[in-house]
Amino acid sequence: MNSLSEIELLKQENERLYKVLGVNQIITGSLNLEFVLDTLMDKAKEVMDAEASSLMLLDEENEELYFHTVKGEKSDLLKTLRLKLGEGISGWVAREGKAVLIEDCSSDPRFYKKADDMSDFVTKTMMCVPLKVGKKILGTVQVLNKKNNHFFDVKDLKIFEITANQAAIAIENARLHKMATIDGMTGLFLKHYFMARLGEEYKRAKMKNVPVSLIMSDIDFFKKVNDKYGHQGGDAALVALAEVIRETVLDFGEECIPGRYGGEEFCVLMPETNSERAVELAEKIRKNVESRPIPIEDKEAMITISVGVSSYPVHNEFINNVEDFIKLADEALYLCKDRGRNCVALYEKV
Ligand code: GH3
Ligand code: MG
Ligand code: MG
Repeated sequence: MNSLSEIELLKQENERLYKVLGVNQIITGSLNLEFVLDTLMDKAKEVMDAEASSLMLLDEENEELYFHTVKGEKSDLLKTLRLKLGEGISGWVAREGKAVLIEDCSSDPRFYKKADDMSDFVTKTMMCVPLKVGKKILGTVQVLNKKNNHFFDVKDLKIFEITANQAAIAIENARLHKMATIDGMTGLFLKHYFMARLGEEYKRAKMKNVPVSLIMSDIDFFKKVNDKYGHQGGDAALVALAEVIRETVLDFGEECIPGRYGGEEFCVLMPETNSERAVELAEKIRKNVESRPIPIEDKEAMITISVGVSSYPVHNEFINNVEDFIKLADEALYLCKDRGRNCVALYEKV
């Protein structure tokens, strides 16, 4: 028969496991990586009864670890510290891909004292676990000093490894999501993601009886930019143009979603926005592009864009699906090209 204290211990252990597994809901419920990792590291500190916890990510290019999330007093002081692979306990764990439980850091030759000095902390005992997806190392997580001068034990390490796996999945999910939805060159949403969002917003607009608008732009005579500055110069112009669009959209103060529709075609989805406001934003973007020299290497290029706008409900009779929505904005855009370029047009039947 178990003694009461043994049963109590088992109960406590069970509760800890439930807490750690409960974090799964946070991870699957959000693609906001900052929020997920912040919550995870808070929970790790709480469940492990630790004085501090932190998560380091591997900068693969420089083979260095840097602090991404740090929980504990004066933890912000550590944000600038970088460790080479192999340096310190975390560097060793990241290089070897193995977890460690260290009872007394002061007697471990791998221990790197600078982190303690920088944050005015004394690390006594520590668990450090690699963040792994398959064989790939993403970084490390660590908890420092079990409260009341206790030591971490093998059971703690097992539970902490579950947290590390959860963190690794969250990081990988967020990275995959970013790669699948964001254009690497301009940082704007990719076409297929943009189309899906437009589809959702169009459906919502019809159901809730609210407007929704679409802006589609195309650079005027972009082939000439490529001819003059080369393809790389053209790419630099696209990056700069995307920045102008992003800034103008942010400044406009409404929730708008900019995307890269094609090579040199950019679009903006404007949920709950009518055609007048959409034309207003389109005009602002056009003017900002026209007036800002685009730096290409050591030269400056001036470019202009033509912008078409389609909108629900004003174009309701012509729109049956997302493709129609795009087609109308595109036709309005070609109207601009016909009218001499560098202008904005709201779709009209010609
Ligand atoms: P228009 O005023 O009629 O739009 O003239 P345009 O020269 O811009 O013609 P169009 O829009 O048909 O051609 C777009 C050109 O943009 C063709 C292609 O070489 C170039 N382009 C498309 N995608 C990229 C890209 O990712 N990088 C670079 N540098 N050029 C691109
Ligand atoms: Mg084009
Ligand atoms: Mg063009």
